[in-house]
Amino acid sequence: MNGGGWRRTEARFLASMALALLILPPGVVWGAERLEFQPGFNLFSMQKEVQLGKESAEKVDTAYPLLTDPQVLRYINDLGRRLASLAPNNNPEYAWTFKVINSSDINAFALPGGYIYVNRGAIEAAENEAQIAGVMAHESGHVVMRHGTHEASQALLAQPLVVLGGLIGQSGSLIAWLTEMGLDLGVNSILLKNSRSAESQADEVGTYILYQAGYDPHAMAQYFEIVEKKYPEKTIQFFSDHPVPEDRVKAVDREIPLLGPAKGWKIDSPEFEEAKKRLLGLPAPPGAKRGPSVSATPPGPPPAPSSRLIKFDGNGFSIAYPDNWQVQRNEDAVALLPPGGIVDVAESGAAQAYGASISRFQPQHSKQGKWGLVDATQEILDTLRLSNPNLRVIEQRGMKLEGRSALSTLLETDSPLQGQKERDLLVTTRQADSVFSIIFIAPESSFDAYKPAFDAMLQSLEIQ
Ligand SMILES: [Zn+2]
Repeated sequence: MNGGGWRRTEARFLASMALALLILPPGVVWGAERLEFQPGFNLFSMQKEVQLGKESAEKVDTAYPLLTDPQVLRYINDLGRRLASLAPNNNPEYAWTFKVINSSDINAFALPGGYIYVNRGAIEAAENEAQIAGVMAHESGHVVMRHGTHEASQALLAQPLVVLGGLIGQSGSLIAWLTEMGLDLGVNSILLKNSRSAESQADEVGTYILYQAGYDPHAMAQYFEIVEKKYPEKTIQFFSDHPVPEDRVKAVDREIPLLGPAKGWKIDSPEFEEAKKRLLGLPAPPGAKRGPSVSATPPGPPPAPSSRLIKFDGNGFSIAYPDNWQVQRNEDAVALLPPGGIVDVAESGAAQAYGASISRFQPQHSKQGKWGLVDATQEILDTLRLSNPNLRVIEQRGMKLEGRSALSTLLETDSPLQGQKERDLLVTTRQADSVFSIIFIAPESSFDAYKPAFDAMLQSLEIQ
């Protein structure tokens, strides 16, 4: 990890929350003449649904590289809005905004309220317009069936006393509030955790929309089948966010006759071929192949952390650490690290590759000492990102640290060790009017080996 001293604090995980799972599953009601699509149980008003989607989209927009090519964006938005206008349960509140992420991975996802993201790789892999329309129609299905907030609603039922009033009365950031309620709204956001039954329903809605728009309604299921077989390495994220329903193709085949008579299906368009050609002609997406900013002399890996701990008394806190580690302190931070835990970096001198770093932080945006932990932690992440441009939040959740409310944020970034990724666990909590933070650092390949030492350190942490 590059840059000053970081804070980390960790805590033990609060009792794992039992989620209520038996709420009305989303389902399709088959009418005599036509299909009716029914969203499942939901605590969110339409206004809150759209607000949560907007807040989430703002985070996505800063976390991912977005394609800016106006021609491709116009094409995707025209197509997406045309499809969405045919969706069942459409609502005038929905934003229906379509963005293209500049990544060659094959992926697409939908946030509540109509914010849909399609990867460049998904468009490039489509063989015709009907197929990419199928992907977008499927994502529109997640929106109109409100799958993201349905999942969040189920999770919130674990705390029924606080939830209803809290959700209805919440006037600030919904993401901040939901995170404090223990929901993960990071990269593994609960809003993207689709169940198999939600997938089936998105397939049903997607197929319906394709039919209404005049496309071959088989195209959606076909696309998913083709890309899963043809590009297994590029579709991992898509199929983990979209678990494959049983007999997807058969289910679609059963649905199609119920949609209406077969007609002359539209398969492709010159506009699609033009957009695809344009994408293939653009510079390759920013990939993992970035020039390392690191000297070519990494030391050997440090010895494994000792299980014998010794205590360190800091200013306002104490913590135990492995007895084969050392302490380095400067004005801003205390680093606890193994020998060889700091490596030379060409540009910035040295960076910590292993160990922990503790520091305190005064939120910039506090109003007379009033600030929220989520926003303050975001400030820390923003600061870290200045020297770690590829920093990515994997997961964020609320926790308790010695009875205090704390926030645990799992991060991925580039390791100062050449060519390696790094994993960091940032734990933040309030100490008087500042944020106490501890960050645990290890290369991704060693993080699991270091985790027991990190956990033991966190358990030992005492903050005055
Ligand atoms: Zn899906």
